[in-house]
Amino acid sequence: MNSSAFSKSKLPTLLSIVVPVYNEAGNISPLVDAIKKSVDNLSITYEVIFIDDGSQDGTWDAVTKVSRADPRVKGLSLSRNFGHQHAILAGYSIAEGKAVISMDGDLQHPPSLLPAMLREWQNGFKIVHTRRISHRKQPAFKRLTSKAFYWVFSLLTQVVIPEGSSDFRLLDRQVLDNITKFNDVEFFIRGVVNWIGFPATVLTYQENERFSDKSKYTFTRMFRLAVSGVVAFTSLPLKIGIWLGLFTSVLAFLEIIYIFIKFVQGVTVPGWASIVGIVSFLFGILFMILGCIGLYIANIHENLKNRPRFVIQQKVNLS
Ligand code: UDP
Ligand code: MG
Repeated sequence: MNSSAFSKSKLPTLLSIVVPVYNEAGNISPLVDAIKKSVDNLSITYEVIFIDDGSQDGTWDAVTKVSRADPRVKGLSLSRNFGHQHAILAGYSIAEGKAVISMDGDLQHPPSLLPAMLREWQNGFKIVHTRRISHRKQPAFKRLTSKAFYWVFSLLTQVVIPEGSSDFRLLDRQVLDNITKFNDVEFFIRGVVNWIGFPATVLTYQENERFSDKSKYTFTRMFRLAVSGVVAFTSLPLKIGIWLGLFTSVLAFLEIIYIFIKFVQGVTVPGWASIVGIVSFLFGILFMILGCIGLYIANIHENLKNRPRFVIQQKVNLS
């Protein structure tokens, strides 16, 4: 290490770049190169922290290799796969920067946007969101489900997450310190960041293709993230049962009156099929509501356990 690099590393870190990675061995080195290309000439102190979320493909070796060559590249490996959101949280909890940017490790979030994000922060914004303006390169199914999720989430929770949001954003130290205090066991950062307030702005970008390998978000993982996000942000689904119950009771009451009138007129109402139909329909609704209540109880149960949301196994270039 030369002396200027040494004195630089003594200065407080201005920017931390937090990158959660799960089986991204082929992306580590290209991403570090791309970050350096866009940040090095800003002459700021920065660190890049990779959080290896329980990879099995040599991602950790790739991280230690680049961090040996540059002390500003740091690594944290979790003891198993804890999921994208918790990996980001692990990164947030050790980042030292006055501004902290989280981005994906597959180069879909363009590092060339970093200087513009930093500029917005220097202009006084405490949160710099980003929005992809085109995701033509994503499969139609993913595009559709993502659009549907943001629409339903905003409708149910009154917390608006714009379509095209992801976990590519800058947070000021003050916002970050508040967020890491949240105790949600199912952490949904995109929701929290849109809920918390503070002066915020949005930058747009064109999404790149994944550099190497394929998406780690299977449909089940996406669905789980969506459900836990809704459960963490609103109890409205719990109350739907009341309205449905009220509606079906009124309907049943009207039906009884109808049957009574027919009875007085000397007509018996035939209806095996309608009875079976209505009963099975109502049972369907009943089980759905029960399942919904179950989701919330499970959430309370998980929160009561108060377990850590991630467990650290190893560190490199981190104390
Ligand atoms: N990721 C992670 N843990 C997981 C799943 C994904 O840390 O359990 C990381 C992944 O390595 C990537 C980022 O989260 O850096 C976003 O994942 P991906 O690119 O697979 O999602 P997509 O862009 O397809 O939504
Ligand atoms: Mg991706």
